[in-house]
Amino acid sequence: MSRPAWVEIDLAALRRNTARVRARIGAGVRLFAVVKSGGFGCGVVEVSRAVLAAGADALAVGNPEDARALRAAGIDAPVLLYAATPPEAAGEVAALDIIATVHDLESLAAYAALPAPPEIFMKIEVGLGRLGVEAAHWAEAFEAARGLRLTGLYTHLNRPEDSEAIARQMAAFDSACAAARAAGHGDLVRMVASSHVLLAYPELNFEAVNPGRCLFDLVEGEWAERAGAEPVVAAVKSRIIQVKRFPAGAVAGFLGPEPLARETRLAVAPIGFGDGLNHRAPLGEAIVRGRRVPLAGRRGIEHSVLDVTALEDVARGDEVVLLGRQGEAVVTAAELGGWLGLPLMELLPRLARTLPRVYLDEGDPA
Ligand SMILES: *Cc1c(COP(=O)(O)O)cnc(C)c1O
Repeated sequence: MSRPAWVEIDLAALRRNTARVRARIGAGVRLFAVVKSGGFGCGVVEVSRAVLAAGADALAVGNPEDARALRAAGIDAPVLLYAATPPEAAGEVAALDIIATVHDLESLAAYAALPAPPEIFMKIEVGLGRLGVEAAHWAEAFEAARGLRLTGLYTHLNRPEDSEAIARQMAAFDSACAAARAAGHGDLVRMVASSHVLLAYPELNFEAVNPGRCLFDLVEGEWAERAGAEPVVAAVKSRIIQVKRFPAGAVAGFLGPEPLARETRLAVAPIGFGDGLNHRAPLGEAIVRGRRVPLAGRRGIEHSVLDVTALEDVARGDEVVLLGRQGEAVVTAAELGGWLGLPLMELLPRLARTLPRVYLDEGDPA
């Protein structure tokens, strides 16, 4: 690439993370690997091939364009589309040959009116307050769904750190399942386990689970310890395109109007906040020649500046690691997220989506 700035996506790590979840849930539970938002920015087709190779049974996406990309790439695994479309789009969604989500009576009516309705999962509202069929409509919805291929019920549980909150939401979900059975819907797949729920409540695995973040190492703190996942967005790298020396007393306007108290050397790398990083301090540190050095000033939209005064030899062409490892030095995602003040699930998909991607497999370019 003529502009040296890229992100490295580790497909072998993604496969191992998926295999870890597969082993955790056992063989009898279907694994819907969540690859929403373009595979968390990492490329929906590439990551889907990896999770399917590592034992996922099906995929879940939140955007029909991702589903379209999977089908266009020849991936024929079952794909669940989360609620994402208005009723007018029902025909287009059905044409993707996927499992569609019914999230209210209107979406149900839209799918029911099609000449060839798709397979349906119904999303149940149990307290998140976002999408899902509400309790007051369950009886009517299950009645109206009799002519449809309704094969599953799912919900997105809220506040997994609070077991009482989970119990309350699960009581509601159980009532929805009972209402479905009463309306003649037998053998439905029940699916409530997103990453945190999967890590904390193995009894809620039921017939299927749908984790996303824990496959991509995007959960944080003690959840990350429980998941034991490896980084998938493994590195963000660039190269130095210029080194400049400023004697003591010179002014580098970029650092402020005051004369420099000491000799200073600044190196420029062509990667900026337009690539998904931040503009204002704190910018944190990066690795050059195996050592951590501070980033200086404010980051530009297409440039970062490193204070390399402490390094003996720095030259144009040296690799700059903003995330990941170089020699013995490492900048972890948690560190970078801490400097930038962003949760990993926001920061890493943004970097992966924005920068040119290099896919690694067992350390080598895939
Ligand atoms: C994103 C999503 C998931 C997966 O959540 P993670 O926390 O990433 O595991 C599960 N279910 C629904 C409905 C979602 O939108």
